Amino acid sequence: MTTMTGGTAASAEAVLDYDEVTSAFDPVLGLEVHVELHTATKMFCGCPTTFGAAPNTQVCPVCLGLPGALPVVNAVAVESAIRIGLALNCEIAQWCRFARKNYFYPDMPKNFQISQYDEPIAFNGWLDVEVPAEHGEGTEVFRVEIERAHMEEDTGKSTHIGGLTGRIHGATHSLVDYNRAGIPLIEIVTKPIVGAGERAPEVARAYVATLRDLLKALDVSDVKMEQGSMRCDVNLSLMPKGSSQFGTRSETKNVNSLRSVERAVRFEMCRHGAVLSSGGSIVQETRHWHEDTGVTTSGRVKSDAEDYRYFPEPDLVPIAPSRELVEELRATLPEPPTERRKRLQNGWGFSDLEMRDVVNAGLVELIEETVAAGASPAAARKWWSGEIARRANAEGQDVPTYAGVLGVTPAHVVELESLITSGRLNDSMARQAWEGVLAGEGTPTQVADARGLELVQDTGALEAAVDEVIAANPDIADKIRDGKVQAVGALIGQVMKAMKGQADAAAVRELIIGKLT
Ligand code: ADP
Ligand code: MG
Ligand code: ZN
Repeated sequence: MTTMTGGTAASAEAVLDYDEVTSAFDPVLGLEVHVELHTATKMFCGCPTTFGAAPNTQVCPVCLGLPGALPVVNAVAVESAIRIGLALNCEIAQWCRFARKNYFYPDMPKNFQISQYDEPIAFNGWLDVEVPAEHGEGTEVFRVEIERAHMEEDTGKSTHIGGLTGRIHGATHSLVDYNRAGIPLIEIVTKPIVGAGERAPEVARAYVATLRDLLKALDVSDVKMEQGSMRCDVNLSLMPKGSSQFGTRSETKNVNSLRSVERAVRFEMCRHGAVLSSGGSIVQETRHWHEDTGVTTSGRVKSDAEDYRYFPEPDLVPIAPSRELVEELRATLPEPPTERRKRLQNGWGFSDLEMRDVVNAGLVELIEETVAAGASPAAARKWWSGEIARRANAEGQDVPTYAGVLGVTPAHVVELESLITSGRLNDSMARQAWEGVLAGEGTPTQVADARGLELVQDTGALEAAVDEVIAANPDIADKIRDGKVQAVGALIGQVMKAMKGQADAAAVRELIIGKLT
């Protein structure tokens, strides 16, 4: 079924049902990811790269493109680029050059961007990503081929003032901040990804998530999609089932969360599907993603052969990394995220589903730290993915960040668990203690002390309560005597109530059954 998307009448575009799209077409994906390296200084000058500084305070003649200023390559950025290339199983160029990409835009002070064109530093690699298995349970590995990873410099940032949308249309004036101009960027481009079928949105998301984890493990970037230190452009086209000839692609720019990557692919599949199945054709263009409405809208028409008048950058010497350097850098690579995850999952004894939830919630490192601090993996998973995850989600934050804000640490989880295993707290008391910790009332022990949380250890008092409840409920007691053990729940509830919740339910159960059978 074809329906119209939201938005104004002028921008509404038809979309086809997802199932209809995937039964008639095969999607082809292409993902371009830009990552800002977190080097101390910019790509071609000594300016600092700190995020959030006052506008135009981190600039110099080189990154402002003043006449006569000469760029010098940042060696750390080149090494990071090589490490990224190696981690993506790429070949590393023996010799490569920078190129000038010429175009005019106010956020680019030189009127050209120093980039790499036909001589990227790294090329021909792959990255394995995990997606839910096509048939049945569990996950399977999908290999994404990498076309190239190349170095370039970031542009400045324009802010358009006065319009409703924040875009230039309707604005009264624009401000430009060149602090970002010249920050080292690596652009990682996939080969066309075919064969993902109906899982294309998930594959796209898993690829970006795995890449993010890998870059984080390499410690080359902050990889914060919400701050723009990692940005993704999503290329998509459809081919009729049975065909292997690629269709015309659209390129959705600057998609800035994992969830949006998945949604943007899905939306574009449905939009392409509607155009193609009604006999229309797709225009090759860039598109904008709208987080709020979940649709893309047309940007500018873009041909494959846009004339950027690329030519080798005359002010920089070529880069010729020695094979010794390449091997030295290879030796610094971290364990690949997918393997690391397998190892952790086995060690922790989590099911595939549990592990996937933990990964999606960004809890892997936190659980690792908590287990290292002495908690059981099950407790670490339980406490980090419960109440705190719900609250973090409501605040639009990830759990590690939110825990940092609250000052909640792995040590708190370890302590909470030990209060349970030592028999001081039962599960519902532990929940209350945890709530107190999240509310800033102190450590689990401090909260338990302040709130008077303590299981009654006095078996005399417990027995008295059990006897009273049995005496008050002769019918239920008879049922249990007759072997209907399920009926015990009702009595446990009453004993717990009489004990104001401060009894161990398992002990109560044993006591009652012991007395009646
Ligand atoms: P551009 O400069 O236009 O962004 P790139 O080569 O940098 O082009 O990136 C294009 C991306 O789109 C690559 O990931 C490529 O594999 C992918 N791609 C190329 N052709 C198609 C197609 N027909 N459908 C989907 N993706 C495609
Ligand atoms: Mg590109
Ligand atoms: Zn500078």
